[in-house]
Amino acid sequence: MLPNLLPSNMRALYAGFDAPLADLDCGQKCSPYNGGIPVCCDIHHAVPTAYPGEWVHLRSRTKLWEVWKPEDEDHREEIQADAGDLILLECLMLNAGHPADPIPEPYCRRDLRTLVCRAFPFFPYFNSRGELLGLSVYWDYQDRCWIISNLQVVRHEYRAQFIHTYENIFAQMPAERESFQYHSEEMRRLFKERRRTIPLLHRDGYAYKISPATETLHRVESDSFPKHGPYKIADALLFPDEI
Ligand code: SF4
Ligand code: SF4
Repeated sequence: MLPNLLPSNMRALYAGFDAPLADLDCGQKCSPYNGGIPVCCDIHHAVPTAYPGEWVHLRSRTKLWEVWKPEDEDHREEIQADAGDLILLECLMLNAGHPADPIPEPYCRRDLRTLVCRAFPFFPYFNSRGELLGLSVYWDYQDRCWIISNLQVVRHEYRAQFIHTYENIFAQMPAERESFQYHSEEMRRLFKERRRTIPLLHRDGYAYKISPATETLHRVESDSFPKHGPYKIADALLFPDEI
C-alpha cells in the first residue's frame, strides 16, 4: 500500500498544477481521428486513475467522476494490475456538458481534472542516477496523442508546474518516485531495443534527445522530434498558414 496523498493537500496540489499545457485546445487536434472524442478522455483508450487520497477529495467535490465499472472482472484485474493501488475511474464530464448550455456540449471541468489528466501525455523522467530530469512521454500513445508529435507547443509554465507538482508528490509518497524511476528505466530498455532516442522536455527549459544506451543528452529544437501516426501525414500536408 502506498503512503497516501492527504485529501487536505489536494486543493493546493491542484491549484499549483492548473496551467494550460498549450495555447491551443489539443483535444481538437486528436478528436477528429477518434470519433470526435479527445483520445485521453476516451475510456476505450485509457482508464483514468486517482491516488486514494485524491479520490477522497474529488468525490467530496463532484459527482462527475465515478468508480470505473468494467465489462468483466478479468478486464478489471488486468487494468488494476497495472494501476497498483490507484483507483480506477470513469469521467462523466463530456457527457454531462456545461451546466449553462441549454443543449450540453462536451465540456471538461478543468478544476476537477485528476492529476493524471493534468499530466497526460507526460511522466516524470529520471536518469539512472535517480535525478528527475524533466518530462518524457507515455510512448504507447504516440500514434494517437497529437501533443507527442508536437512537443514545441508545450508551455514553459506548464513544464515548471509539472516538475514542482511531482517533486511535491514524491516528498509525500517516496514509492511513487521509485515507480517512475522504474518506468524511465523501462523506457531506456525498450528504446534501446528499438534504436530510438528518448524525447525529453528538460527542467532547464530546453528540449533534448537522450541516447538510451549511454544516457547522453543532445540538445535539439523542440519542433524537431519525429511525428507519428496520422500526424506524420497531416504534417506533410500542412499549408503555410496552418503552421
Ligand atoms: S493530450 Fe493528447 S490525447 Fe489528450 S487531448 Fe491533447 S492531443 Fe488529445
Ligand atoms: S477531466 Fe477533462 S481531461 Fe480528464 S477525462 Fe474528463 S473531460 Fe477528459
